[in-house]
Amino acid sequence: MPAALMWVRGLEDRPVTVRFASPAGVTWRVATQLFPGADAQTFTAPNLQYLMDSPTELSAHALRTFTVRDGAREPAFRVAVHHDGDDGELDSFARDVEKIVREERGVYGEFAPYDGGTYTFIADYLPWNNGDGMEHRNSTIVTSSSSIRGNRAGLLSTVSHEFFHSWNVERIRPRSLEPFNFDEANMSGELWLAEGFTNYYGPLTLQRAGLTRLAEFAATLASAVNAVTFSPGRQVRTAEEMSQMAPFVDAAAAIDRTDFENTFISYYTWGESIALGLDLTLRERSDGKVTLDDFMRAMWQRFGKPGGRAPGYVDRPYTVADAKAVLGAVSGDPAFADDFFARYIQGHEVVDYARLLAAAGLVVRPRAPQSGFAGELHLQDGPGGVRIGAAVPAGTPAYQAGLERDDVLTQVGGASVTRADDVDTAVRGARPGTPLAVTYLHRGRGQPISSTIRVIADPRLEIVPAEQAGQGLTDAQRRLRDAWLRSQAGNTF
Ligand SMILES: [Zn+2]
Repeated sequence: MPAALMWVRGLEDRPVTVRFASPAGVTWRVATQLFPGADAQTFTAPNLQYLMDSPTELSAHALRTFTVRDGAREPAFRVAVHHDGDDGELDSFARDVEKIVREERGVYGEFAPYDGGTYTFIADYLPWNNGDGMEHRNSTIVTSSSSIRGNRAGLLSTVSHEFFHSWNVERIRPRSLEPFNFDEANMSGELWLAEGFTNYYGPLTLQRAGLTRLAEFAATLASAVNAVTFSPGRQVRTAEEMSQMAPFVDAAAAIDRTDFENTFISYYTWGESIALGLDLTLRERSDGKVTLDDFMRAMWQRFGKPGGRAPGYVDRPYTVADAKAVLGAVSGDPAFADDFFARYIQGHEVVDYARLLAAAGLVVRPRAPQSGFAGELHLQDGPGGVRIGAAVPAGTPAYQAGLERDDVLTQVGGASVTRADDVDTAVRGARPGTPLAVTYLHRGRGQPISSTIRVIADPRLEIVPAEQAGQGLTDAQRRLRDAWLRSQAGNTF
C-alpha cells in the first residue's frame, strides 16, 4: 500500500473506502485485513495508518478458515493461499498453521484483539515470486518462490515468525516506530527485541508444536550463535546500535559497497541469540520458575494489551528503559536486568552458551575441529582465478595474509584454482597451524602477489542433543529441556 498510494497531508485520520475491480472475465477474490464494506469488493479503513498497513491480494486464491476459542472471544483465522499445489497439501498446511497459532497464544495466554475478530494469512507460493514475510496488525503477507510440497518447513517458519509479530511489534511496539512515518525512516534501537526475539520464537514455536525435530531446532540456534560469536562487527556496534542500521539493510539497497562483513551483525540474528541467552539465564537463576515467556507476557500486559485510540495506533509504546524495567520486575532483580542490558544489549559481550545449553542437554562443540579455516570468504568462480566478492572479516587468517575484497586467487597450496570449491577444499584440507601458500592478483598491481595463510582449526560451533553426542541425559537436563520445549498451547494465565 505505501508503494501504491498517494495521500493528502492533514487528512491522516479521515476514514477511507476502497473498491477493488477485477479484470473482466475473472472471478478473483479479495484477501485483506481491511474492514468489510457495502459489498464483496468494497472495504474501509478508519485512517491512513490502517490503510497503509493493509496489504491486499486480488486473485484466484484458495481459502481455509478456522476459529480458536479464547476466553469470551473466538477469533477467526483465514488462510488465503495463492499457489499451484493441490487441496490436500493446503488442508494439511492450514492444520499446521493452526498448530502455530495455538502454540504462540500459549506464550501470551491470549490472542491479541484482532480488529473485526479476524486475522488473515495472505500467502503467495508461486515460482516467480520473491521471498518475503511482512507483519501487519491483523494479517501477514508471506511470499516464496517455493511450494508447500517442496519447502513446507521453510514456509511454516515464516508463518510462525510473522504471526508472533501480531503481539510483538504490532502491539508491543517500540516508541521509535510509533506512528510509522511515511515520509522518512523511523530509526529504532529496539529491533533486537522487536525482530530478534520474534526470530527466536519462530523456530521455538515450531519445536514446541512438534513441527521440527530437536536436531533441526538446535542447528537453527547454532547458526545464530556462530554469527554473533565470531562476527568482528560485534566489537564495532552493540545490538541496540545494529538495530539503528535498519534503514540501510532491511529491504534497502546500499548505494555504495559497505564493510558490513566487519561492522554489522543483523539485529534479527543478534536479537535471536540474546533471546536464547536470556531465556536460559532466567531459567537457570530461578530454577525454572521464570522464563522469557514471562517477560514477553509482562511486555504484553503493560504495553500491548492497553491498545490504541483507533486501529493502526498504539497508545503505550515502550522504550529500551521500559524493557529493562520489565525484565527487572519479572526477574525480581533490577540489578540483574541492568547488568544483562549493559553487557549483552548495550555492550559487546555474549553469554556462555555452552554452559547454558548444557543445562538443557545440548552440547556446544566445534563442528569440524580437524578442518582448516581461513575465514568466511565470499568466493566467486571467475576467469583467471577465484574472486573474493566481499570484505574479508578482520582478524581471520585470510585477513592477516593481506587478502582483500576483489583480490583474485590464482594458486592455493601450490596448485592453480579456478573454482570456489578448489579453494574451500584446499583450506579445509590444510592441517590447522600449518602455512598455506597463496598467489593472488590485486587490482592496480601488475605482478601476482605471494603470501601465506596461517590456517587455524575451524572454530565454528555446532549444537547437538547430548544423546546424539553419545552422552547421557540427567534428570535435571531432561526437566529443563521439557519445560522449555514442550507445548505451551494449553497455557492460560
Ligand atoms: Zn519480523
